[in-house]
Amino acid sequence: MSRPFIYLDYNATAPAKPEVAEVVARVMTEGGNPSSVHTHGRAAKALVEEARAQVAALAGAEPKSVTFTGSGTEANNLVFTGAVKANKVGRLLISTTEHESVAKTAAASGLALEELPVDRFGAIDAEALGERLEGSSEKALVSVMLANNETGRIQDISQLAAIAHEAQALFHCDAVQAAGKIPLDMTALDADFMTLSAHKFGGPQGVGALLRRPSIDVAAMILGGGQELGRRSGTENLAGIVGMGLAAELAVRDMATMSSLAKWRDDMESQIGAYAPEALVVCQESQRLPNTSLISLPGVLSETQVMTLDLAGFGVSAGSACSSGKVAASHTLKAMGLGDEIASSAIRVSLGWKTTQEDVKAFTQGWMTMRDRLSPQARTEVA
Ligand code: PLP
Repeated sequence: MSRPFIYLDYNATAPAKPEVAEVVARVMTEGGNPSSVHTHGRAAKALVEEARAQVAALAGAEPKSVTFTGSGTEANNLVFTGAVKANKVGRLLISTTEHESVAKTAAASGLALEELPVDRFGAIDAEALGERLEGSSEKALVSVMLANNETGRIQDISQLAAIAHEAQALFHCDAVQAAGKIPLDMTALDADFMTLSAHKFGGPQGVGALLRRPSIDVAAMILGGGQELGRRSGTENLAGIVGMGLAAELAVRDMATMSSLAKWRDDMESQIGAYAPEALVVCQESQRLPNTSLISLPGVLSETQVMTLDLAGFGVSAGSACSSGKVAASHTLKAMGLGDEIASSAIRVSLGWKTTQEDVKAFTQGWMTMRDRLSPQARTEVA
């Protein structure tokens, strides 16, 4: 009997939790436009406000600081358009390992853009940030992700934000990968803006949020009927927003389960390391998300590994992207100074709320079988 497919790609998207799927279906069936003044509309508005409070609670923020968007990507776009406009920002500084929704939008803004280097452990050089901001006459915006989507590396956001604030710069933190996996406190992190995306923590796809310090504003990027207090027009994705709110509440409830994933992940990594000395776990010694493992098998392209594992019944993703038939090595790993060989042979394994210890054990075996078939090192051992 064939066993079920084992999904280990939670950093790409997490399945919605059953309670979330149930509430989304119910709200879609009941409908309601939060802008309508009648009873049905007012009930829909109340649901949006409840979700706003739930999302704020996940991030230790105030409900009024939450603007719902159509995705994490849209929230990041709103930072580099609306936040830049409202705060007369003239200069951007982002890390070299940011997600494309930050990197491409910052590049398209037309503003002066500088990239902050990371060391070989994926950490941003805080001193370099301070030096670059020193004596800046123009208002700057610094954007650094809390946790990296590929490596899971966690940055010292409060330290970087303090340096930015010292120089009167604004600070944005893309917390899309961190939310629901590690405790989040926007006040403690001292961020002025923070991005969240529901589908990464058990909510529906197609809904995100930009959180901000209430005293700092953001101008609208999408104009129209003035929803979200004029900051994001368009009839609200009511079911999505309610789903995001419940997912946020459940993420707080389930945080201990998420941190316990680190044990299974670490066991997998040490077994793989003992079995295949040529394998490299990126950021293994650094502070990282409890669910993420980026494993390089030198000499075997990421795509080949992903396909082989897929055929064996495991869903993981490449640490590198494939465009127009060409394998592009991961920009994150390249930025960390890891050579092409490592950068083009890494796969990301990311666990989540449905993952069992048996899944991780089965994957570990599956990875070893793949390694024996594909690794040049394994062939040498046989010869
Ligand atoms: N930021 C990071 C770090 C991400 O990993 C992602 C998605 O993978 C996004 C932003 C974009 O979020 P969304 O899928 O909601 O557009």
